[in-house]
Amino acid sequence: MDDLYREIIIEHYNHPSHRGHLNPNNIQFADNNPLCGDHIEITLLTDENGLISDAKFDGHGCSISQATADILLDHAIGKNIEQVKSMTKDDIIELIGIEPGPVRLKCALLSLKVLKAGIYGLSAADDVELD
Ligand code: ZN
Repeated sequence: MDDLYREIIIEHYNHPSHRGHLNPNNIQFADNNPLCGDHIEITLLTDENGLISDAKFDGHGCSISQATADILLDHAIGKNIEQVKSMTKDDIIELIGIEPGPVRLKCALLSLKVLKAGIYGLSAADDVELD
């Protein structure tokens, strides 16, 4: 892994900007990545136009899963929910600046899957297609 990007991951892991639980919220979803033991909960507050005014994540797991959640929410806050719906696996790779191997990729994609499952009202993060 590139050192610069590894530092960014570690920085977001150790000092997340968006860790917590939003209350009130109008979208809330949580799920796991059983392969690694990662757990992510995301709470969102959106306005009547679908603008994401605030978002928080909580959970536990490896540094990639937790740091990516923080980086993703940095990106999502202030955007419209429609823009988040169109995000793919490649957008996450671009945001975090590394392309993890297949096992770590599941860790990196968990937060986007949780976010989209919450937005779409799905029952499981694995129902989200990101390709
Ligand atoms: Zn993980």
